[in-house]
Amino acid sequence: MFEYEGPEDPIEAMINHCMPDYYCKHCQQDEEFCECPQYVPAKRPKDPDFDFDEVMSRISGAWNRD
Ligand SMILES: [Zn+2]
Repeated sequence: MFEYEGPEDPIEAMINHCMPDYYCKHCQQDEEFCECPQYVPAKRPKDPDFDFDEVMSRISGAWNRD
């Protein structure tokens, strides 16, 4: 039985990989946490270690868990 106990939610990792992720250029916070006078979005760099197949297998493992 597949069991993933890492710190990262694979579904969240996939969402983060597929969706553009922005943060404030000044304080590096997400927009909702930014307290700067002006929020200046900067694109967050993708995780260079992201392994699409590995994350997909983790997601399907989570779905098939019973
Ligand atoms: Zn800010």
